[in-house]
Amino acid sequence: MEQTSETATSGTGLDAYALGGRERTRLAARAAVAARRMAGEGIVGVALTWVDVSGITRTKTVPVERLEHAAAWGVGMSPVFDVFLLDDSIVSGRHVGGPVGDLRLHPVLERLAPMAALPGWAHAPALRYAQDGTPHPLDARALLRRETDRLAALGWSVKAAFEIEWAVSKGGADGFVPACRGPAYGMTRVTELAGYLRDVLAALKETGVTVVQLHPEYAAGQYEVSVEPEDPLGAADTAVIVRETIRAVTMEHGMAASFSPKVEAGSVGNGGHVHLSLWREDTSDGPKNAMAGGSGPYGMTAAGEAFAAGILGRLPALLAVGAPAVASYLRLVPSHWAGAFACWGLENREAALRFITGAEGERETAANLEVKCVDSAANPYLLLAALLAAGRNGLGMDLRLPEPVDVDPAGLSEQERAARGIAPLPSSLAESVAAFEADAVLRDALGEAVVDTVATVRRGEIALLDGATPEEIAAATRWRH
Ligand code: GLU
Ligand code: MG
Repeated sequence: MEQTSETATSGTGLDAYALGGRERTRLAARAAVAARRMAGEGIVGVALTWVDVSGITRTKTVPVERLEHAAAWGVGMSPVFDVFLLDDSIVSGRHVGGPVGDLRLHPVLERLAPMAALPGWAHAPALRYAQDGTPHPLDARALLRRETDRLAALGWSVKAAFEIEWAVSKGGADGFVPACRGPAYGMTRVTELAGYLRDVLAALKETGVTVVQLHPEYAAGQYEVSVEPEDPLGAADTAVIVRETIRAVTMEHGMAASFSPKVEAGSVGNGGHVHLSLWREDTSDGPKNAMAGGSGPYGMTAAGEAFAAGILGRLPALLAVGAPAVASYLRLVPSHWAGAFACWGLENREAALRFITGAEGERETAANLEVKCVDSAANPYLLLAALLAAGRNGLGMDLRLPEPVDVDPAGLSEQERAARGIAPLPSSLAESVAAFEADAVLRDALGEAVVDTVATVRRGEIALLDGATPEEIAAATRWRH
């Protein structure tokens, strides 16, 4: 289980997760055992990572001998990183900014693991606390934990997985030079980079990631990996580990990996689709997937439908978190399988929400909702926290879904779309931010400091790239996430 204090189960606010004295002692003891074991296995350093508002994974590392102290007392890091932009310039919000202050990064020991792609290194996602042991209100992992606890208090759990797309470039070039020439989904592309892809699979497996599929994607040099669903915290941790592992193996092979929403202007982008299923926990015969076995559309239960409808209705606001870069809106265009319209459909790759039932016979485990309009510039913790909050609101309001859409909405006339209630999603970051700031449900779930800081960082990046051409935006974003 998570490292929480005795009172953490109430799930009412972040203070419930404060680190007390006894907890520090317990964490130190546990870290000491893990550090001794890892040192024996050749681990020298441990990277403590967290993801900032701009979606960049930041880190402090400690020698393995120092893990025990870090677990109990944390490692210092400035709160100013919450207002870093993707080019490392710094803005200032109402709640964060400026050079003063200290937060403590505490490794999450349950997720501490050697990183096969970085020999001698282990990794642990970090939680950020104030010096008095209270969680930092902008700590995205803590916010996600609170959201999963809020759902748990209602008898629900969620399984989630991020699909990671990336494009591989020949090394040494500033620009993007596809590392393979084979066609989309072509076996040629596996053959061309077989050794590399084998090493990606092997490193992920050795790091403890359960891969379910790896394939060549549509755009030049693009691949995708999908992983087994997990609890939301685990899924977000895995999204971080998968990207760092792919990045390291790619570099080891003399190439470079881009996870940017738009690697090249004018091409198909990298998505970071999120798969979600909602599970009823308090049944006599074990957890039950609310996305199957019901009498709603395509077998959803009423709760599954309400959860999906809660997300669908808030997609414009959710994009401020899920499609957080200026470059995200170069990707989020119609007829690019990015889901640029606010609608849902069964297996519809042009709907922002694609419903997946799975094959007959495995629906009870396989049925899930895929959020397609989001990308890997998103902070995976914050995105899941926001999606869960939107779904929880849908559950509370017992919302119903509109009619499903079974065509590419771009192929309908504007009048036909209007008649079917299909709206385009925001076409710019500024539009998403405005929707996010106006969204009372997300504000209530995430807190004022998060909403203000997200909006501040987004406006900073909009200003940073103001007037830039699509090519310049792609170039500024290509190697950052
Ligand atoms: N690359 C597409 C995107 O930008 C997704 C392709 C797919 O459906 O997997 O989201
Ligand atoms: Mg894909």
